[in-house]
Amino acid sequence: MKPMRFKTRITLWFSGVLLVFFLILFLLITVINNSVLQQNVKSTLINTVNGNVSEVQYSLTAAEPEEGAVYIRYGSGYILIDRRFLRLESGVYSSLYAADGSLLYGENPIVDENPAFSNGRLTDVRYEGVKYYVFDRMVEDGLWLRGVISEQESRGLVQNATRLILLIFPLIALIAVAGGYRIASHFAAPLLGISREADRISTGADLSKRLSVTRDDEIGRLAQSFNSMLQRLENTFEREKRFNRDVSHELRTPLAVICAECEYALDRERSGSEYREALQTISEKAGELSDITQSLLMLSKLESGTSQIERSPLDPADAVRAAVRETEPAAQKNIALELHLEPGITVLGNEPLLIRLFANLIANAYKYGRENGHISLTLRREGQKAVVYVADDGVGVPPEDRERIFDRFYRADNAPKQSSGTGIGLAIVREIASVHHASVKCTGNDAGGSTFVVTLDAV
Ligand code: ADP
Repeated sequence: MKPMRFKTRITLWFSGVLLVFFLILFLLITVINNSVLQQNVKSTLINTVNGNVSEVQYSLTAAEPEEGAVYIRYGSGYILIDRRFLRLESGVYSSLYAADGSLLYGENPIVDENPAFSNGRLTDVRYEGVKYYVFDRMVEDGLWLRGVISEQESRGLVQNATRLILLIFPLIALIAVAGGYRIASHFAAPLLGISREADRISTGADLSKRLSVTRDDEIGRLAQSFNSMLQRLENTFEREKRFNRDVSHELRTPLAVICAECEYALDRERSGSEYREALQTISEKAGELSDITQSLLMLSKLESGTSQIERSPLDPADAVRAAVRETEPAAQKNIALELHLEPGITVLGNEPLLIRLFANLIANAYKYGRENGHISLTLRREGQKAVVYVADDGVGVPPEDRERIFDRFYRADNAPKQSSGTGIGLAIVREIASVHHASVKCTGNDAGGSTFVVTLDAV
């Protein structure tokens, strides 16, 4: 079965709820109406009978005949019924009875079922399947005034109202469906807009495009979430593209050298020292390949931000000491290393990553340091920060390159041409700093070398 469209669903819901609401209202109105009308019928009856009481007079002598008045001989006198006496008014039948129960004047629809008289009391009686209300008042000298009204007087009105409501019901249903449809269209329109825009982006495969966020409501938030998802997709896509480009670019040179060395060695019979030299070069280049791939993988992992980086409280001095131990094999040029590490500082960090960060900086200090030079590693607390200085007195970095050296594959001109390197080390340093919400910068120093400053949040 085809799933129901959002618009149809909202239309059905809206009209259903509205119709149920209308039916409940209708039932409520009918019930209230019924009781109000019944109450009305009763009070009309009572009022008419009470009003008629003063229109009936008994006197012993016949008075001057009034126009429209009725005279009835009764006992030794006369009954005068004024012309304002209401015989049949608003469905109330009024009749006058003698003390012996005989009808003197007026009409009574329930003449065969007449209940006993009772002064000022409202009774009801069923006659030929119809309910009647009866109200009596005693007029002077044992005369009874009886008012009778059929309950159907009220039912008729209720039935009329019901008929009217049932007649307009289809109209209300139509309004409910049309209203529901309009509301559904109103809410569906921006969603459809988002869906169309999203389709356009996905078919165009241009991940740099974004949905236009024009609203500050749930739909606006949906567009925003969609945009941030696109942003993440674009980042991942870009990272993957860059990784592929970097790998093919960076691996090409060492691979070409390895191939060339192999060809050279296999070209013809070589002497032992020539083979050794070729193998030496191949081994160096293979090491370089391994370094580059490992660094690129690490960089890609750090940049993706997907791998959870666990951080725990640690002493940065320990990380610096571990980095020194790790770089010992790289120590060269008779460079002297000094440590000035303030104890008792704690930062929140990932130890292996911080060791890697400091090791990269120390390895560079050796690589770009001078013969018999110095490297000084300083850790100190500065306010809420733990700051590590890695200073050397080597070639230094020209001020215009101090920012760019952190870009992947950027190697400043200061680097001795023969010095091996991939240009990824500092990019990794910056990424590690970034996942620690720390900063790293390169400055010059009095010794003409460079100082790298890493600033971490102390806890
Ligand atoms: P690599 O050392 O493999 O070239 P890095 O990313 O570690 O790559 O460094 C990038 C560049 O920054 C280096 O090529 C060099 O020009 C410069 N650099 C890094 N550290 C130092 C330093 N301690 N002194 C002088 N220059 C440096």
